Amino acid sequence: MSETEAPRDGSRRPLVAANWKMHKTTGEAERFIAALLGRGVPNGIDAVVCPPYTALVATIESAGGSPLGICAQNVHEEESGAFTGEVSIPMLADVGATGSIVGHSERRRLYNETDEALARKVPALLAAEMLAILCCGETESERDAGETEAVLRRQLEADLAGVADGDLGRVVIAYEPIWAIGTGRTATPQQAQEACAFIRGLIADRSAGAAVAIRIVYGGSVKPANAAELFALADVDGGLVGGASLDPGDFGQICRAAG
Ligand code: PEP
Repeated sequence: MSETEAPRDGSRRPLVAANWKMHKTTGEAERFIAALLGRGVPNGIDAVVCPPYTALVATIESAGGSPLGICAQNVHEEESGAFTGEVSIPMLADVGATGSIVGHSERRRLYNETDEALARKVPALLAAEMLAILCCGETESERDAGETEAVLRRQLEADLAGVADGDLGRVVIAYEPIWAIGTGRTATPQQAQEACAFIRGLIADRSAGAAVAIRIVYGGSVKPANAAELFALADVDGGLVGGASLDPGDFGQICRAAG
């Protein structure tokens, strides 16, 4: 075990999250949840579905009484105000959402989601007792230049600056190499493990206890065929799944790989 790897003590509950991106109407969301629950979601994991805002309520109602968590794909850091097109944490709580993805590479790249905003979003979600799934990851050219660790360090130091050391263990970090998202080019188990162990080491620099507790999941072309191998890695505690999460059969299989 390298110095940056915290021991896996079995207390970290795997988490598998579906990032639907800009897919699914309310009817499609309802049918997905019925099909997923019909096949069964394993005990012992946190299974989370992140629909677009318009399908949040339908998804929450369809999942009512089940252990599924329903989260947003983005949230604004302010409680209210003149922020056209944005949705706040109290608004998510109002409809029964249980958290949000933040810092997805598509939002960083296409919508200029900044580290400064993330440094406010993550503690605001934690203060509301909500799940914060914070994404980070390098581009292909950054990996080729040997800059993966520097990128992860820069992102996570900035994005977690507003989180108290004692609260770090409540965050979920999604390591998502950008070159693996939606490309079918999954990171190798070695690449995924190395990056997730490095991230755990960054957390350990602030709090040894948080490093053991924090869940670090892998995202980037996770499929039913590769999920079990990835989720068995010492520092990978589940997955954030895009394309393969649109099909309830595939997403159910991926959840079972974690369970
Ligand atoms: C994502 O967008 O978070 C993602 C991991 O997508 P995909 O599984 O399609 O690569």
